[in-house]
Amino acid sequence: MSESANTDVPPGRAASATVSVSGLATSRGFAAGPVFLYSKNSALTVPEYVLPESDVESEVGRFRSALAETRRQIEELSAKFKSDADGITADVLANHLLLLDDPMVVSAVERRIRDEHMNAEAAIRRTTDDFRAMFAKMKDSYLRERQRDVDDIESRMLRVLLDCGESAFDHITSPVVVVADDLTPSETVTFPRELILGFATNRGSTTSHAALLARALGIPAVVGLGDITSRVQAGDYVQLDGSTGIVTVNPDEQSRATFDRHAKSEQELLARIEKGDVSAKDAASPSVRLCANVQPGVSFADLSSYGAQGIGLYRSEYLWLGGDADPNEEEQTAAYSEAAKAAAKLGAGARVVFRVLDLGGDKLQRGQRIHELNPFLGNRSIRYLLSHREVFHVQLRAILRASACGPSAVMYPMIATLEELREANAELSSAMESLRADGIPFDEKIPRGMMVEVPSAALNADAFAKESDFFSIGTNDLVQYTMAADRANERVSYLYQPANPAVVKLVDMTVRAARAAGIPVAVCGESASDPVLGVLWMGLGVAELSMSASYIPPIKKVLQAVSADDARALAERVLGYGPFQSAAEIYMECRKFVLSKIPEFEEMQSFFTAG
Ligand code: PEP
Ligand code: MG
Repeated sequence: MSESANTDVPPGRAASATVSVSGLATSRGFAAGPVFLYSKNSALTVPEYVLPESDVESEVGRFRSALAETRRQIEELSAKFKSDADGITADVLANHLLLLDDPMVVSAVERRIRDEHMNAEAAIRRTTDDFRAMFAKMKDSYLRERQRDVDDIESRMLRVLLDCGESAFDHITSPVVVVADDLTPSETVTFPRELILGFATNRGSTTSHAALLARALGIPAVVGLGDITSRVQAGDYVQLDGSTGIVTVNPDEQSRATFDRHAKSEQELLARIEKGDVSAKDAASPSVRLCANVQPGVSFADLSSYGAQGIGLYRSEYLWLGGDADPNEEEQTAAYSEAAKAAAKLGAGARVVFRVLDLGGDKLQRGQRIHELNPFLGNRSIRYLLSHREVFHVQLRAILRASACGPSAVMYPMIATLEELREANAELSSAMESLRADGIPFDEKIPRGMMVEVPSAALNADAFAKESDFFSIGTNDLVQYTMAADRANERVSYLYQPANPAVVKLVDMTVRAARAAGIPVAVCGESASDPVLGVLWMGLGVAELSMSASYIPPIKKVLQAVSADDARALAERVLGYGPFQSAAEIYMECRKFVLSKIPEFEEMQSFFTAG
């Protein structure tokens, strides 16, 4: 049985009712097509049939072979992770092995095959359902979490039995809109890009990493829809508008025609903008640099046609998210060198800013489960690297080797203390030393900067500025940590306020400290691709905005209409209100300012999704 059946309305069932649902506009663009309902294990269509008595023993044999193959796969994964210093991944896999060997599980499945003549797949599903129900009742949250282990084991065994590959997405053969409860970045990277028209999820927020990936890949997306998975079934037709956040299930003729008209007029407007055909007050270049956020795997060919003036953020962790094992030094060097060569072609002053591995939070390697109660406050990012020195050393060597191929800089994420910055710089010096000893060339003067995304870094920016060559403000995390609102949780998205006066104050403090130390500041969070916030950052003195490349042409069009002096006056007004204005009031004031400079902004709104 193939999972492509996931796009067919099951026989005998009517298509779902027409309904429009509103979620968080995440990645702009229009997508319309059949639903591919992705729901982790249940994405597997489990056949259920009664076996003749004569087939029972061979079915038990089939189950045992699947058990052995599942064990082999997990042992192979464990071997890859055994050097993991936390031992976390290895622990999880060890739990999976224990479950597989649990005589209660094995005998329950065999009993169903023998006594109820059930096929192996159905016997596994029924047995794991029982275990899930049992774990769900447990008070202890750790034990409740064991449901996930059961899910994983079940999924692995069913995939072996159904011979359907490692990923549910392998089975998509024609263009679809993916509808899911939630998607992780490692699921999103396994998308067959050319067949995914868009995605809609129950959970998630505009700055969850799967959302950022959608923007970088140009996939229209709406997240935080609440219960979209229960409103659609496989094969329904959906329309998704990534800039308004509206998803319509089984639209009528009229709604389809309106949708098509909007999609077409967006295409036309984009073509006009790209041709420079939307009026702006003056046609001078904006007074901020506009750079691209990229990750390994994207094509660099389009960067210059989008007008990127450099690569302001290279999210290196995507080299880890796509596979099961750490990339080695040669693989990393090859990937980074490609980006350094691409940066060299982007004109004067262009460079690629390599951000070192930012794993953790919602960015986990495939098969990796970190048991932390608050992963966004846990051992993520620079903390992970400083506790995995070998991984850090290899990555720094690879970045340095790439710096010989084109203008490069290295950047540390999540820096919270001066000690971390010093430790990271010491690691960089040691990687340089080892390359010198090996006679391998690199840029001896490579700039080293840090992200300002933890409030402590913004508050103490003057100290950090003395030991950094540049700052890049990661508003995605800075907002999350300032407002104590999980960036990936749609239930607190109302608190996720980049224009909150507290955030504005932290950006201002960072820029002032940098100015005093004579170093530049960029913003590379999603707020950079919202021109309403972009003018505010520009007015506060930010020199570079870095965003998904396709957002650059419309942003450029807006910022060209704004002089540096006007932006500064706006920022001073906003700072003058201090804490007495709400985020919504500040945002409205900036929006009015943009509209006064470029009346077409209203018409262009569909290009932007609030950051
Ligand atoms: C940020 O936090 O703003 C940022 C750019 O980093 P990421 O979104 O990858 O965490
Ligand atoms: Mg961040």
